[in-house]
Amino acid sequence: MLSIPGLKTKVSLAEYTTYKIGGHADYFFIARSQNELKHAIIQARKNNIAYFVLGIGANILFGDKGFRGLVIKNESKNFTFKANILSVESGATIENLISVSAERNLSGFEHFAGIPSTVGGALWQNLHFLSPDRLRTVFIEEIFVNAKVLTSDNKVIVLDKHYFNFGYDHSILHEINFIVLEATFNLSSLSEKEILKQAEENIAWRKSKQPQLSEYPSCGSVFKKIDGVGAGRLIEQVGLKGSSIGSIQSSFHHANFLVNTGGGTAAEVRLLIEMIQDKVEKDTGYKLETEIGFIGEF
Ligand SMILES: Cc1cc2nc3c(=O)[nH]c(=O)nc-3n(C[C@H](O)[C@H](O)[C@H](O)COP(=O)(O)OP(=O)(O)OC[C@H]3O[C@@H](n4cnc5c(N)ncnc54)[C@H](O)[C@@H]3O)c2cc1C
Repeated sequence: MLSIPGLKTKVSLAEYTTYKIGGHADYFFIARSQNELKHAIIQARKNNIAYFVLGIGANILFGDKGFRGLVIKNESKNFTFKANILSVESGATIENLISVSAERNLSGFEHFAGIPSTVGGALWQNLHFLSPDRLRTVFIEEIFVNAKVLTSDNKVIVLDKHYFNFGYDHSILHEINFIVLEATFNLSSLSEKEILKQAEENIAWRKSKQPQLSEYPSCGSVFKKIDGVGAGRLIEQVGLKGSSIGSIQSSFHHANFLVNTGGGTAAEVRLLIEMIQDKVEKDTGYKLETEIGFIGEF
């Protein structure tokens, strides 16, 4: 039996994702500290119950039949600053870290303004966005120092950056069952005014290029970028920009965003993904791979 105070049963997952899609979790728990997060995972492991650590749910698709096991929504977010070094629990959001750092004239997180992400999700995927001059990609690894993780055999250890094996949309967390409890970042000095200006410019850029979450629930780009050829451009090239299955549509704003126009299902997302992959491969020879996680039962 799971001994977790505050544990809920049969909770709909759709509202806990940016896609607004997903059936129910058998068990659901909101962890508000790293100790609660650690305890919930250890309980699930001891009871041989499948578990999933959820941040904002901005890079995953839950299946329509939900999740047989425990979903742990990570809302642990305590932080401390020592000069320009920030240590923060893994459920803190990037949005919150931009404001608490800016207040202290510390720069780093504003590059990722407008991206829905917790620290844990950001390290999973090596969060990235274009530099202010839009000439290169800035990755979260550039400000990351180390992380306190819970290992697969329930030990708590600190891992340095080099261990994380960061790549594009990749980190060691894809390869090994470690959960980030807390992370440390090295920020640099910049005036609050400059930081907030940069954050606003990034948000404005997104608004001009991408469908807005408030209007069109999504999990961002669905397909991985192919070097030198944007996945969105390939979808456009084969005439599938704007195409839809049920309530899921390849966005007119950005073809790689498969948006939920209202009441969409995971089954529809998967069908549209397959349709796009087949046509792109047939017409161009490129194989589009998905970059999002498919979690639970479909
Ligand atoms: C509108 C929109 C725009 C986006 N734009 C971008 C963009 O510009 N750049 C970009 O890089 N991404 C972008 N994304 C994708 C998404 O925002 C990122 O991948 C983000 O890092 C996901 O964070 P999350 O907290 O929601 O993670 P989730 O989606 O909840 O989880 C993702 C994975 O991380 C794992 N995970 C979460 N927390 C932990 C932890 N503490 N320890 C170990 N594993 C953990 C989960 O188990 C899961 O496997 C966008 C998404 C949307 C919806």
